[in-house]
Amino acid sequence: MKIVLSVLTAVVLMVHAGAQSHYPGQHEGKFIVKDKLIPAVYSFDLQDVKLLDSRFKQNMEREQQWLLSIGANNLLHSFRTNAGVYSGNEGGYSGKKIAGWESLDCELRGHTTGHILSGLALMYASTGDERFKTKADSIVKGLAVVQQALNQDGYLGAFPQELINRNIAGQPVWAPWYTLHKILSGLIDQYLYCDNRQALDIASKMGAWAYKKLRPVTAEQRSQMLRNEFGGINESFYNLYAITGNADYKWLGEFFYQNETLDPLKEGKDILEKKHANTYIPKLTGLSRDYEIEGKGGGDSIAAFFWNTVIDHHSFVTGSNSDKEHFFKPDDQSGHLTGYTGESCNVYNMLKLTRHLYEHTASMKYTDYYEKALFNHILGQQDPATGMVAYFLPMLPGAHKVYSTPDSSFWCCVGSGFENQAKYGEAIYYHNAGDLFVNLFIASELSWKEKAIKLKQETNFPEDGGIKFTVEAAKPAGMILNIRYPSWSVAGATVKVNGKKVSVKNTPGTYIVLNRNWKNGDIVEVNFPMTLHLAATNDNINKAAILYGPIVLAGEMGTTGFIAPQPYSNPQLHNDYYTYDYHVPAGIPTSLLISGAKLSDAIKPVAGGKLTFKTVKEGIQLRPLYDIHRERYVVYWDIK
Ligand SMILES: [Zn+2]
Repeated sequence: MKIVLSVLTAVVLMVHAGAQSHYPGQHEGKFIVKDKLIPAVYSFDLQDVKLLDSRFKQNMEREQQWLLSIGANNLLHSFRTNAGVYSGNEGGYSGKKIAGWESLDCELRGHTTGHILSGLALMYASTGDERFKTKADSIVKGLAVVQQALNQDGYLGAFPQELINRNIAGQPVWAPWYTLHKILSGLIDQYLYCDNRQALDIASKMGAWAYKKLRPVTAEQRSQMLRNEFGGINESFYNLYAITGNADYKWLGEFFYQNETLDPLKEGKDILEKKHANTYIPKLTGLSRDYEIEGKGGGDSIAAFFWNTVIDHHSFVTGSNSDKEHFFKPDDQSGHLTGYTGESCNVYNMLKLTRHLYEHTASMKYTDYYEKALFNHILGQQDPATGMVAYFLPMLPGAHKVYSTPDSSFWCCVGSGFENQAKYGEAIYYHNAGDLFVNLFIASELSWKEKAIKLKQETNFPEDGGIKFTVEAAKPAGMILNIRYPSWSVAGATVKVNGKKVSVKNTPGTYIVLNRNWKNGDIVEVNFPMTLHLAATNDNINKAAILYGPIVLAGEMGTTGFIAPQPYSNPQLHNDYYTYDYHVPAGIPTSLLISGAKLSDAIKPVAGGKLTFKTVKEGIQLRPLYDIHRERYVVYWDIK
């Protein structure tokens, strides 16, 4: 860490005008208000990182099929119905009308259309494939017609404003601002990643409507309204402000600062118990964004305190949190190993927040978390057989993942899933003026345009700890290559440059720094030792999960007791994930006799199996949790 800090100090003085920021296109002049914060490191634009073949790329490709299979008309149907726009059958409906949380009687309808606009934008940026842009263009065009037909000061929604009125009046309603946030965010992503000016125009009009709507709201109404879930709409309004320079949107961002939940964090109080996790997390992302724009203020330290509190006291070994969507008592993991843990949206939002905080500090703890949650939760959220995604990641021994259906679920986690699987390239590499940081080991190719340098990363990680980098450069280029030596590793990492061993004095949790004039064809090979280790719950040292490197291993428990449609959700019951009966058969083993033994003696690799192990005494087969699908599993064991 020490080395990195000294490098960073030098770099702050050298930061060049026009460096990319957290959001794509900032360097292309898409933001009128430039960020005042000079971050420690910058993201690369998604289009500069191409995934090579791996589980991540395969997930992304399955997601593409799903994204393309849902017709634009289907996604516009509820909006058009709300506006009384006759849509005819132009272009035809692909399949039946979408249902679940997108049904015409669901108060959240429209959220998927927003997520899909984001998903298509991210997918277009990640692949350059025009199909994603063409599809998004037609959705944006359809939304413009709806906004015009509604003719309500710029309001745009798949439900009438009545839902917003109910929210302002403190009457029961699901989460109308949450839904509007997804639409707004999708439109902004269309502008940033696909240069769709019409999308920005629609978003700006929505902002103008929101300003007019909320300006007269009293302090009492505001505090009542903000008790309801509103997603990360504050972040979208801050972005809209930075893009347009219109201070009304900044006012809106600040309007959504909820004193009740955020002020105690300022004082360092953990008040998370019983709070709805996914309502809470994005409030902090908005604060972080405000901090970037302003370059000052307390928002970032509140966000950092929140992040530490969630990670240290409210999370499972997978990087997920919550039980039935709510934070539990600090450090009470072992009391919450239920079938309803780990909402996927929470992880999606924690990863978003993590990226902001990492860019501000370059602190490796953020990257360690990012890897943990990405590999153990997000990668495994998708069923590789069907491309469907899970809402929860259950920790109940003997439970299994419960997957959505293609057109009848559309839960929040299906929506955020459309984004999750499209942006695997966003956190692999970071940079500042002279340094390149390799944070994640995912087969990929980076193009660093300002340096006229390409870096190809080839790896089978996490099947083994070996990674090979190949430099492509038309002429020699100076670059400080920082390769993350992950905290989960142990002493003994090896590094070779062009076949020659380089001595490694680093310890895990630091960056290995290679400062050279890089030539075309230079090769760097690194190997990080991976070992088996235990991670106990905070409240019970004898209740622990088994990991290999950063990968959570789970015991495979078969499919006994599955009753159709298990492991899929019942398409007739849109919320069955919440009361799902796992029919866990009696006698699922939950204890391991490994206490006192050397872990590598008690758990042995299975010959020929990728990341497959067996406990010597019980004969239980362990595999990565991300890879266990359509089958029961056990993550946390009683260690005896
Ligand atoms: Zn969700």
